[in-house]
Amino acid sequence: MEAIDFSSADHRKVVVVGTGPAGLTAAIYSARANLKPLVIQGPEPGGQLITTTDVENYPGFPEGIMGPDMMQKFEAQAERFGAELQWGMVTSVDLSERPFKLVVDEEMPILADTVIVSTGASAMYLGLENEARLLGHGVSACATCDGAFFREQEVAIVGGGDTAMEEALFLTRFASKVYVIHRRDAFRASKIMAGRVLENEKIEVLWNTVVEDVLGEKEVEGIILKDSITGEGRTLPVQGLFVAIGHKPNTEIFSEYLERDETGYLITKPDSTYTNIAGVFACGDAQDHVYRQAITAAGTGCMAAIDAERWLADQEEG
Ligand code: NDP
Repeated sequence: MEAIDFSSADHRKVVVVGTGPAGLTAAIYSARANLKPLVIQGPEPGGQLITTTDVENYPGFPEGIMGPDMMQKFEAQAERFGAELQWGMVTSVDLSERPFKLVVDEEMPILADTVIVSTGASAMYLGLENEARLLGHGVSACATCDGAFFREQEVAIVGGGDTAMEEALFLTRFASKVYVIHRRDAFRASKIMAGRVLENEKIEVLWNTVVEDVLGEKEVEGIILKDSITGEGRTLPVQGLFVAIGHKPNTEIFSEYLERDETGYLITKPDSTYTNIAGVFACGDAQDHVYRQAITAAGTGCMAAIDAERWLADQEEG
């Protein structure tokens, strides 16, 4: 940060960090409030919905909509009102004084009167050495991205939440067989999604089972499983291992300044998007560990833009 010259940096009233439903909704609202927001796209522009197939629960789309199509619409709507999207990711921040300082891709300085943090969350992994080694070679956290590589092959997916259900169902389009591996004896997923999985003939659920290791030199050739009740181990010969065990909020870069809970979610003041630093607002999955839906992320993105707009007006008044 010291080496970066901010003297001729772009100075914005509102900088939005992240472009999932939260960030782009914040961008739409602050652009319509004539605040000309700069929106930093982040490492995964469009956020988690980019790796989702059908979104069936977002109001206004009775037939459902594909995640990437929905995010394109969010983006077009933000740009229509003057939001400016900037490719790249924020690599350092200084929130110790105003205007706040941000650096994009380690070289582009930006000054901001307000910052809206909507950096979302990223996939978690099991933490096995061979899982990391074979990532992209049979191990994946995104069935939508990689499922088509497993035509007529056998794959396994770990997890018992809605993501695991959704991805297991998606994988049946390609794979000859899909194992759902869950560490307990009941799914966390909604009944409707779990029901679809349990009814699907291509899917076999392995309850009370954990993955202990991933086998294969260059590509996944199998996984070692352990029955968590009997302790019995066995090898399951699969060519793909999909991990769907939840997400971690992308808030590390703000950790020096913003209050976070023990799992890293940003803490906001009740019924608002205010963080512990005046002028910095947080919304979406970076801050919400309870609902984590596109619609709630969009809702808090709207709140953040309104909070920022009112806060700026208060500063100008005096
Ligand atoms: P969740 O946190 O809901 O589920 C994670 C699953 O992974 C749980 O079953 C958990 O087990 C399991 N798990 C966690 N850690 C491990 C581990 N180390 N080893 C093995 N298993 C592990 O995450 P999701 O990503 O599924 O969903 C996140 C949110 O998004 C939810 O609110 C969900 O409803 C929503 N969502 C909605 C969709 C839709 O409506 N179309 C689609 C996808 C997600 P355990 O149950 O034992 O804790």
